[in-house]
Amino acid sequence: MGKQTTVTCDSCGADVFNKKYFTLNIRKVIHGKQTMNPAIYLCPKCFRETKLAMLLIDIEVEKDD
Ligand SMILES: [Zn+2]
Repeated sequence: MGKQTTVTCDSCGADVFNKKYFTLNIRKVIHGKQTMNPAIYLCPKCFRETKLAMLLIDIEVEKDD
């Protein structure tokens, strides 16, 4: 079919094309200015781990004033 599409997990590198995978959009806010990072692709296994990690990580909040 000509064009080859590959979707790989950004965490473990597993080929997830044609399989179930998750995308995360990470938004970073620096002094009120939002910067959009490219979407992160994750296989279900890494998604679960990331989700867990996100729940465990204390998100650093920078206060300006
Ligand atoms: Zn993975």
